[in-house]
Amino acid sequence: MLIDKLDFKLVNIECMPTSTKFNAIIELEVDIGDLLPYLATVIRGCTYIHGTGELNYMDRGHIIAIRSKQITVTALVDEAEARQLCQELKNMINQVDQQRGSITPTLRKQARLDPLTVYRELPQTNCGECGEVTCMAFAARVVSRELRANGCKFLLDNEYSSQRERLWQKLKQAEYEVN
Ligand code: SF4
Repeated sequence: MLIDKLDFKLVNIECMPTSTKFNAIIELEVDIGDLLPYLATVIRGCTYIHGTGELNYMDRGHIIAIRSKQITVTALVDEAEARQLCQELKNMINQVDQQRGSITPTLRKQARLDPLTVYRELPQTNCGECGEVTCMAFAARVVSRELRANGCKFLLDNEYSSQRERLWQKLKQAEYEVN
């Protein structure tokens, strides 16, 4: 087993003093730098540029950054949530380490999707029909894989066919499901 346990400390989000959420910092006892290209293959939609020593992805609203000897996780509600995520991360890392012989490492730059890129292709009317207050909020949840882009029913109208085609293409490039 590569990682036996993950210890974390919770810190306040300094740039948002009124926030009730925390970030977790996990210092690793072992260097997992050479595992990053394998994790980049397994974690769908992550951002990884080979050689930078850092991999980022979004999971259920958390931004997770994995580095050689440190992992950070944003927007945690409490210690219990942090502990649960640490357990999941530990299991994933150990599993990828065990299976690395059968995984093709990622040695290239993967396409990255951000909320603004999605927002640009939306109707931008903030109508709220998708259940989100604004189109930007909807875009952020599409990027974090909480919602699918076809949750905006107006995108399916002929009026928005060119925006839809562009967005579908960008989603596919970044390895998102579009239907
Ligand atoms: S339904 Fe579409 S246009 Fe309306 S708020 Fe949601 S994303 Fe924006």
